[in-house]
Amino acid sequence: MKFKNHLIVLIVCAILSACGSNTESVEASSESLLLFNGKVWTGNDAQPWADWVLLEGDKISKVGNGNRYPSADRQIDLKGRLTLPGFNDSHVHFSQAGALLLGINLLDVNDDEAFIARVKETTDRLPDGSWITRGDWGAYEAWNMGSEGSNRNQQDWQPRRTLIDELTPDHPVLVTKYDRTEGMANAIALDYLGIESKDGILKGDILTSALRQIPESSFERKLAESKRALEECAKWGVTTVQDMSPLDRVDIYKYLQERDSLITRINFSPSRLSEIYNMMEQGWVIDWGENPAPAGDDYITFGTVKSHIDGIMGGRTARFFEPYADNTIENYMWRGGWREFSKNLPEFKRMLIQADSGGIQLRVHAIGDEANSILLDVLDTLDQVNGAKDRRFRLVHAQVIAEQDFERFAGRNIIAEVQPYHVTDDMRWMEERIGHERCKGAYAFKTLEDAGCQLAFGSDWPGTNASYYPINPLYGLYAAVTRQTVNGLPEEGWFPEQRIGLESAIKAYTQGSAFATFEEDVKGQIKEGMLADITVIDTDLFETEPSAWLKAQFDYTIVGGKVVYKR
Ligand SMILES: [Zn+2]
Repeated sequence: MKFKNHLIVLIVCAILSACGSNTESVEASSESLLLFNGKVWTGNDAQPWADWVLLEGDKISKVGNGNRYPSADRQIDLKGRLTLPGFNDSHVHFSQAGALLLGINLLDVNDDEAFIARVKETTDRLPDGSWITRGDWGAYEAWNMGSEGSNRNQQDWQPRRTLIDELTPDHPVLVTKYDRTEGMANAIALDYLGIESKDGILKGDILTSALRQIPESSFERKLAESKRALEECAKWGVTTVQDMSPLDRVDIYKYLQERDSLITRINFSPSRLSEIYNMMEQGWVIDWGENPAPAGDDYITFGTVKSHIDGIMGGRTARFFEPYADNTIENYMWRGGWREFSKNLPEFKRMLIQADSGGIQLRVHAIGDEANSILLDVLDTLDQVNGAKDRRFRLVHAQVIAEQDFERFAGRNIIAEVQPYHVTDDMRWMEERIGHERCKGAYAFKTLEDAGCQLAFGSDWPGTNASYYPINPLYGLYAAVTRQTVNGLPEEGWFPEQRIGLESAIKAYTQGSAFATFEEDVKGQIKEGMLADITVIDTDLFETEPSAWLKAQFDYTIVGGKVVYKR
């Protein structure tokens, strides 16, 4: 490697900028790219900070300090900005996010004016003939009523087709309320469905059957949704997403990859064991070894299967050892239930043992303390039946852990696949629902970390029909470090003893997530030999108050040595 004098680099830069030449083209795929004059946090304990990074092809080839740089085909002056390994979001519903971004989002809509404006924007985005569906109107309004959606408010706002019929002559519309008890169809949708209705409001069986008649999205629509979602990832410094979309999305990722347009790496998890077998038949999953390891290539990897053991807090379906604290007398004994396969626990365990013996990594949704405890029992069984191995069992959400279970995490490479932003969203009603004592083990990131559990951060983008969870990882860092709402409450943070430091939080969002998919050798640090996935932020997180992070912007996102986003 030849080193050039810093002065020569500066002169070259000056000449290039004087000629008006753009050395930072987003499209260009360079052979080598030098990032210099930065404040580079590497995540590598042997060299925690650096000033410059050389990328060759899709890998990082050199990381250095000082002002003597290697030569490169192109270069970017980081101008002292904070530079981090690309974020790896361990929990994303990519197809839902794309559908929401390209389609209509009515979560915050609760009046005529906003509704008309939102429909107008959506028709501008979508070609004629495209259906406009879902939307989930009124969710935030219900939230503000303090009911988290469970109590009906008699003065609910309702859309009417007369508001939008003239705006939507070429777009069939069938949007639904956040709780899916009502829908509203426009004139041409009603025509298609063969239903007559003055205001377009549909309920009950009529709504159910109307929703079933909406034609399936075309390949082109799914492709457009995926592209929109990829742009959003790049904009917020996310270079890998761990996705749980329907299996047909993998064809779209492959299509984009073949056209050099897959600008975010995808680690894909099907939600059914049977889908793993379908993938094997299609030749997607290859070479399963004795230990779980990601199959695929650098851009699309596989290796996990996702399942559920219990439900969610919102619907009181999460499974706890003791009843919910805010139950009425009639259902006082209710403490949540099992979900899907897990309704038959012996069969559920048999399926997990079978998948584990085939080298498939397990990833199971668990919210309540009993649900998490039972999964730790399952892990004991896997160790006994299939032998102890580095299986990196993933507790998805790991939301409430019973005090006596924390010691079971030590030395087992268990992954807590957690979404710190959920803390800021849920803290307003958690204590009411499960009481103060149990909340001590809720989103207990510090205790989990101290217990030897590996944190893998993510967003759960785009969220539920009651709230939007942004892909922006800085919201997650903020929540993990402060345990406050975005408005800075409570002042000391919610159960502040569970706050973690900024470096721990960044690690959980980069190398922690990479560890969760057995990719820690290639992702998660700015280090020689790793994939060149890097992001540059306009705000120095180490020198500013966390509240400033919520307004920070990403200036560059680089994936595989290519600039995929530039602000
Ligand atoms: Zn999720």
